[in-house]
Amino acid sequence: MQRRISRQVAVGAVRIGGAAPIVVQSMTNTDTEDAQATARQVEALARAGSELVRITVNTPQAAAQVPRIRELLDSVRCTVPLIGDFHYNGHKLLTQYPDCARALAKYRINPGNVGRGAKRDEQFATLIECALRHDKPVRIGVNWGSLDPELLARMMDENAQGKNPLDSVEVMREAVIRSALESARAAEDIGLPAERIVLSCKMSQVQDLIAVYRALASRCDYALHLGLTEAGMGSKGIVASTAALAVLLQEGIGDTIRVSLTPEPGGERTREVQVAQEILQTMGLRAFTPMVSACPGCGRTTSTVFQELADKIQAYLRAQMPVWRETYPGVEEMRVAVMGCVVNGPGESKHAHIGISLPGTGEVPVAPVYVEGKKTVTLKGERIAEEFQAIVEAFVREKYARRIPIKAV
Ligand code: SF4
Repeated sequence: MQRRISRQVAVGAVRIGGAAPIVVQSMTNTDTEDAQATARQVEALARAGSELVRITVNTPQAAAQVPRIRELLDSVRCTVPLIGDFHYNGHKLLTQYPDCARALAKYRINPGNVGRGAKRDEQFATLIECALRHDKPVRIGVNWGSLDPELLARMMDENAQGKNPLDSVEVMREAVIRSALESARAAEDIGLPAERIVLSCKMSQVQDLIAVYRALASRCDYALHLGLTEAGMGSKGIVASTAALAVLLQEGIGDTIRVSLTPEPGGERTREVQVAQEILQTMGLRAFTPMVSACPGCGRTTSTVFQELADKIQAYLRAQMPVWRETYPGVEEMRVAVMGCVVNGPGESKHAHIGISLPGTGEVPVAPVYVEGKKTVTLKGERIAEEFQAIVEAFVREKYARRIPIKAV
């Protein structure tokens, strides 16, 4: 797979595009006016692995709280760059609250929500001038749901008068692309370098997103932010986002991704970070946390022991990562297999770094463990889960402990 070459954009210490790894980002759903709650959620998203976090900046009170949110994060050593999401009044907020403009590492501007008529260009220019004044990059983030209505109406009219009119879906896709490209070029005309511009054209339908990004990728070299907007809830949101993003990522398109999941009632906001990481990791594009392979189970397993063990081990591995990332470099590449019986269990276990094959129905109640392809021990009894976890821990310590070079004397 060959990655599309894009211009690299610096967002605080994070790099988007060029040869930089594909960046995972997310967005809060707290009221930004509540600095404590927002800082807590940003921290949770960052600890889960979000490398950039966007917050909405929609009111003067919210803009006034942004520096406080940055301070709260700094006080707990959470350095994740904050992105401000602006609609309608961004030109005023960034001008009237310079501390907010400074505390943010990037501004997201939606060209469809900058203003109408003559005011549009003026307010857009004010936003870009703020970015120049504070030395910040900008994402020009078109969303088909808030596409500039004047642009769309003009293109629909032009299309209707053309010799071979396109269907309305084609016109809408082209309008989204043109809104992004024309806005980016307008920003460059005002003086913002291309290395400070990220583009996105978010669509809510998988085929629209793929078509639009393929065209966008072939028509510019700006860094691209990928995401399916309004992806939805639960498995539908995950499947739709994965279907769209996987096609584009496989074609080398996309420098940063966000998975826009609607949280289920009581669900964690950090789920969107986990899904984004899993898309990149299962495609072999990045590694974030050790992965557990587990068989689906079938009529050969009549108990839920192996499902519980797989779930427990995956949760345990994920929970260790904030510490392991520092102390055990490379551990994120580790693969663990938890299999339900001897049919595929030993084979899959041998191909993982560590694998366990639990007894299926009617099999001898023992669980052989494989470490780097070799059977090392057979577990039995009530404490298989605890003993297997201890084996995983010992393996991690042994294989990934940071080796400190011994000084010559
Ligand atoms: S490994 Fe065994 S339990 Fe798991 S799906 Fe295959 S046959 Fe069924």
